[in-house]
Amino acid sequence: MDTTALQKIADQLIQARRIVVFTGAGMSAESGIATFRDKPDSLWAKFNTREMASPAGWREDKYRVWAWYEGRRGAVLETQPHAGHIAVAQLADTLRSVHGHAVQVDVVTQNVDNLHERAGSSSVIHLHGSLFAPRCAACARPGEFAPGLPDQTLTHLDPPECQHCGGYIRPGVVWFGESMPEKEFRMAEDLVDTCNAMLVIGTSGVVFPAAELPINAHQLGKFVAEINPDRSEVSGYTTVECRAKAAQGLPQLLDMLKNR
Ligand code: NAD
Ligand code: ZN
Repeated sequence: MDTTALQKIADQLIQARRIVVFTGAGMSAESGIATFRDKPDSLWAKFNTREMASPAGWREDKYRVWAWYEGRRGAVLETQPHAGHIAVAQLADTLRSVHGHAVQVDVVTQNVDNLHERAGSSSVIHLHGSLFAPRCAACARPGEFAPGLPDQTLTHLDPPECQHCGGYIRPGVVWFGESMPEKEFRMAEDLVDTCNAMLVIGTSGVVFPAAELPINAHQLGKFVAEINPDRSEVSGYTTVECRAKAAQGLPQLLDMLKNR
């Protein structure tokens, strides 16, 4: 654990009024959810991207795609947020009690697992959608899941029907070849513009335009800190690089702030 780097991050956070926490798949790795690119366990090492995460894959076999996402949702429901998610959720209150004025902490995540919300974070912007926000493939209205826990063993499953138009309900995630939700991305850009500090946790920084956010923050002269056990494409754009895992580094950072 790189405690010197964590101290440097704590020094900056203690002065900040607005903090953006930008997270990727590595944030959830210690909850037991596979990342996309860390082989050999990664999702893409085991599954075909085009088949499972593209509009063409959906058109080709929506039953296979729906079964896969329901399986992922089932797996996420069996896991819990870890100490790092909880530390992020407690960051604003901790800073408020240290220096007596309100601090705004917004999470901007590429993750679709809702673990930040389950840990108690109140402001979470989803850049790539959510496994828990299915919508109609035809009319885009929010859809409902079939009742009960998803069956993770199925390879094919009928998607539910839209109650408004009878269309198929599709996963509410952003697929390859689809654009990011505009409103969310704009909100994230505004947060980057107005923040004092950005924490970048567990992202490889190769998925654009999400990866523009830490780069923009750096170019705007913001304090940008990375928490990741390995170097990433974002590392070159940071003020401080902390080589640590999320579930270890973040609780330690919170303890440092509490002891100021
Ligand atoms: P990625 O898989 O490309 O990279 C994961 C990063 O996390 C790597 O840099 C790795 O070094 C780091 N990492 C691994 N273990 C870590 C740990 N314990 N603590 C901190 N960092 C750790 O992930 P990405 O950059 O988010 O890729 C983008 C895409 O993956 C996104 O589009 C996202 O929607 C999707 N995704 C989401 C989930 C999820 O919701 N949990 C899971 C897999 C993929
Ligand atoms: Zn519909």
